[in-house]
Amino acid sequence: MSDLSDLYQQVILDHNRRPRNRGKLPTANRVAHGDNPSCGDQCSVYLKFDGDHIQDLSFDGSGCAISQASASLMTTQLKGKTPAEAQKLFDEFHHIVTTGEAPEEISDLAAFAGVHAFPARIKCATLGWHAALNALNGEAAPATTETHQD
Ligand code: ZN
Repeated sequence: MSDLSDLYQQVILDHNRRPRNRGKLPTANRVAHGDNPSCGDQCSVYLKFDGDHIQDLSFDGSGCAISQASASLMTTQLKGKTPAEAQKLFDEFHHIVTTGEAPEEISDLAAFAGVHAFPARIKCATLGWHAALNALNGEAAPATTETHQD
């Protein structure tokens, strides 16, 4: 497990210890569920979408530290965003976790740069984001990472 120690940087540890926006959102009008069977991670995302912006969102789930910390961080990043802005943030996050290249100006997302060295964990890091975008797009089908090109 020591090889993974670089993954667990301060931001990840913090989100894992004190998850943000965890639990069902009573006012949600969009819900999507994500599964990462290769690691056993699960994540549901609840969105209150007003047609233009994500007014509020939350997540609930279980699994490894990477998946839960990433989902927690995702909820803090997407609040108030439009669907286009949310997609852009995910693209940036996806670039970080697949290449390890992290622009300094988005330092919280950059905490996950170490994930790129562990390809199997990329699915953990993107699980909550896939669920959020699916919820935003109104897709009812579960966000199974097995069918996504990460
Ligand atoms: Zn995982």
